[in-house]
Amino acid sequence: MASMQSFWPVSHRDDDFWVCMSCLTEVFYRKVPMPDCPSCHGVSTYEGFTLEAIRDWGTEELIAKAIAAAEAAASVQQAAETAASVEAAD
Ligand SMILES: [Zn+2]
Repeated sequence: MASMQSFWPVSHRDDDFWVCMSCLTEVFYRKVPMPDCPSCHGVSTYEGFTLEAIRDWGTEELIAKAIAAAEAAASVQQAAETAASVEAAD
C-alpha cells in the first residue's frame, strides 16, 4: 500500500518528540518516519525535542500534533500492557 508509513523506533530519551526541522509541520513521538519526511521528503531532517521545547517555539498546530502523538502512543502502550497481563493471568 502506497499510503503505508514506516517508522524507525527511537528508544527512551528525554527529548521524545521528533520534529522535522525542514518543514516544521511533522512531529512524531518516540519514532521517526522512514525513509523520509512524509510532508517535505527531507531525509535525516528530524531532531529530538521535549514537549516543553516545542511549546516554546512550535506553532499551535505542531504542539497539538505532538500532544496527539504522545496520547496515541500512550493508548497503544496501554493496550499492549493489557494484552500482556491477560496473557500472564491465563
Ligand atoms: Zn518535513
